Amino acid sequence: MKTRKRFGQHFLHDPGVLRRIVEAVAPAPGETLVEIGPGEGALTRPLLERIGHLTAIEIDRDLAARLAAEFPADRLTITCADVLDYDFSAFPPGTRVVGNLPYNISTPILFHLARHADRLRDLHFMLQLEVVQRMVAKHSTPDYGRLSVMLQTRFRMHKLFNVAPGAFRPPPKVDSAVVRLVPLAEKPDWDQAMLEKIVREAFSARRKTLRNALSLTPEDYEILGIDPKLRPENLSPGDYLRITRQVCAR
Ligand code: SAM
Repeated sequence: MKTRKRFGQHFLHDPGVLRRIVEAVAPAPGETLVEIGPGEGALTRPLLERIGHLTAIEIDRDLAARLAAEFPADRLTITCADVLDYDFSAFPPGTRVVGNLPYNISTPILFHLARHADRLRDLHFMLQLEVVQRMVAKHSTPDYGRLSVMLQTRFRMHKLFNVAPGAFRPPPKVDSAVVRLVPLAEKPDWDQAMLEKIVREAFSARRKTLRNALSLTPEDYEILGIDPKLRPENLSPGDYLRITRQVCAR
């Protein structure tokens, strides 16, 4: 079957990589597991060997129909939809999510799922290695940026292992990695829209000092105990939350 580039289709065929992903997820019977982009079912099949039922969201009508024909409805619930429009709030607390994601829309998918983090137990994703490095980057390092802050305020993240292009058909032009995201227990008690605005502002002027990148007053810096001569990349995710609370408290 011809692969559709616009859907970021690179199908996994390496049995070793598939085994490692399933071992990392370690699904147990009775869990609610959702797979994003099952494609030809390379991951779906070994997951279904471990659990009774799986829900999958696939945008490609032909692939969704093939999987629906392969598995009975009581084993696989397949929804043909764009995951970015999919409402995860219908799933019960403790839902687990897994997927070899389409790389062209991986950041929007991560932000979409971050909004539902409170009902998710964990997420295991195959992503472009460079994106995983940005997700887990510590502050004051070159990979640290908007993605790091926005995800680290909602998740604990672990890079699990790298995957070479040859594990996929067709091979992507980039290296990949598998990452685990575990939602933080604390519920967000800050204004998420304000956090997003401040972080976007900060990293759109990465080389500027905070004084020039953010619209904070000298009093704000004083109260926060943050040096305005620092650069946006020097602040931790916790610092961005403190800035957000300070701006909202004014
Ligand atoms: N899981 C399969 C595997 O490992 O071989 C396929 C992975 S492939 C990288 C990404 C899959 O996501 C494709 O099947 C593609 O059709 C699907 N996809 C792309 N965009 C999507 C979207 N917006 N919503 C749901 N599925 C999508």
